[in-house]
Amino acid sequence: MTVRLRVDWPDCRARGLCHEVLPELVDLDEWGYPVITGEVTPELLADARVAVRMCPRLALRLVT
Ligand code: SF4
Repeated sequence: MTVRLRVDWPDCRARGLCHEVLPELVDLDEWGYPVITGEVTPELLADARVAVRMCPRLALRLVT
């Protein structure tokens, strides 16, 4: 099963907290919006869940 992070763009405010929590999978573009760089591997799943919980705008989701 493939797990990915998805950003709900209308809600994202480009604060970059997800990048700080999960730099392995989240880059930031020049405006500070997250760029998801890959699938969530089993090793990164716990950190990905933390990133989802910490998003202040509830703009980050895990999808399968
Ligand atoms: S933490 Fe949430 S609001 Fe902040 S950049 Fe990431 S997705 Fe957007």
